Amino acid sequence: MTVGFSCVRGRFAPSPSGPLHFGSLVAALGSYLHAKSQGGQWLVRIEDIDSPRTVPGADSDILRTLEQFGLYWDDSVVWQSQRIDLYQDYFEKFRQQLYGCQCNRARIAALGGIYDGHCRSLGLAADAGPLAWRLKSAGVNTEFLDLFRGTQQIPTALAGEDYIIKRRDGLFAYQWVVVIDDVEQRISEVIRGADLLQMTPRQQALCRTFDAQVPVYGHLPLAVTAPGHKLSKQNHATDIRHFAPAQSLTAALRFLGQQLPPDAELLPVTELLKFALQHWQAAAVPTQPEIQINSFN
Ligand code: GLU
Ligand code: ZN
Repeated sequence: MTVGFSCVRGRFAPSPSGPLHFGSLVAALGSYLHAKSQGGQWLVRIEDIDSPRTVPGADSDILRTLEQFGLYWDDSVVWQSQRIDLYQDYFEKFRQQLYGCQCNRARIAALGGIYDGHCRSLGLAADAGPLAWRLKSAGVNTEFLDLFRGTQQIPTALAGEDYIIKRRDGLFAYQWVVVIDDVEQRISEVIRGADLLQMTPRQQALCRTFDAQVPVYGHLPLAVTAPGHKLSKQNHATDIRHFAPAQSLTAALRFLGQQLPPDAELLPVTELLKFALQHWQAAAVPTQPEIQINSFN
């Protein structure tokens, strides 16, 4: 039976691969304001499932920075690295929808990066050597309704791909765990950067596979230094550690198209956030995929 949502619950799900930068502040703020302005809850989840990319200490650094910005979360913070048993339980439970794949990178690169379902009918067993595990696509869903952008179209090949949910090295993939966590935490709205927009139909499909209610999805513009270039940690002009919190928060609100109080940068962050909550306008969020920023000033 599909279970509905009893309350609004948003989340911010940073990967702890470095300190919080302006782009992640925008995602944190947008998800916070949208959930809180409806009287909802806002959760923080540390997405440290990709252990080789996890930087020790980055998680506590991110949490401390959120606190400096007055972005306090509800409930306990969840670390994906502590939930491997849960992800494995889902693996066993939905084993029928999964299959082992022994294709190497070179083969998939030759296909243009989108997998062709080659191993679907081979029935490779877990002891057939190191295998990646893929989800049998349940049908091609190329469209979804974005909270900020309206109807979005995704390339058919990407939407219908049998993607990897457990890697050959044994680590569960982002695509698998993000949906399990959103379902388990009863997240009703997923608000995040537009870099994940194309992954939304497959995540919605996976929710349905789990027989769970599908959250609302909304994508915020990405902050870039040049077309196609996400902010780098080396970009001092936008490294929030170089600015007072109210200054970065003001820049993030402006980036999200929101109204600002007079002398916003001089206010305590709690005042600024209070104003932002009262004046939050989802319709004012810019709908272009990326916005170039060179500095806050
Ligand atoms: N952990 C992902 C990231 O930092 C975000 C996942 C999500 O919001 O769905 O890029
Ligand atoms: Zn294969």
